[in-house]
Amino acid sequence: MRWINWALAWMAPAALPLAAQAPQPVQSSRFVAVLDAAHGGQDSGGKIASGQMEKAVTLAMSVRLRSLLGARGMAVVTTRESDQALPPDRRAEIPNHAHAQACLILHATESGSGIHLFVSSIAPSQIALFLPWKTAQSAWVTRSLSLAGTLNAALLHAELPVTIERTFLPGLDSLACPAVAIEVAPNRAKDGSVTAEPDDAAYQGKVASAIAAGMLAFRSEKSEP
Ligand SMILES: [Zn+2]
Repeated sequence: MRWINWALAWMAPAALPLAAQAPQPVQSSRFVAVLDAAHGGQDSGGKIASGQMEKAVTLAMSVRLRSLLGARGMAVVTTRESDQALPPDRRAEIPNHAHAQACLILHATESGSGIHLFVSSIAPSQIALFLPWKTAQSAWVTRSLSLAGTLNAALLHAELPVTIERTFLPGLDSLACPAVAIEVAPNRAKDGSVTAEPDDAAYQGKVASAIAAGMLAFRSEKSEP
């Protein structure tokens, strides 16, 4: 590689600065993703069959996604980086203050299989100047459905089973951005037996890669005129 740079410098010095600093697309600096690893501290969440607590699985998924998305030039804000308890209002304040373009709330479960996507069941409304705190999501739910659709396509592309449901989640309804809750369930064989628990490293890697691909697709959809 050093030789190639030297050759370029010798052959066309003017081209070197361009080659040395690959410009980031302008849009990437404006797209902020928030990752909310659910549970933490005293709130352990559910227990995975492997013995792992849900709060640890969600944090591991958040760390994987932060690294994958950050490597692709996405600005990522996380609600927690350690085994920390967070009041519910704080979980909404973080994405709302960051003006997030997408917020993923991460959960894990032992029940069901594959990936469960949840979008708020709140009815859509026009974006108002002052949004009532508890129902802020009503102005964004259409975009949340679009984010869930893009994530669904990416997960199916990775041959992961997916379900999408509308549900009432208090934390979700306070978010003023496209928001989807993602629950990672075990991977199962056709007979229902578990082939990978939600804390399995290879399985988590596959799920995180598919979610990251979905987020990148959502970012490019957003930047289209
Ligand atoms: Zn949970």
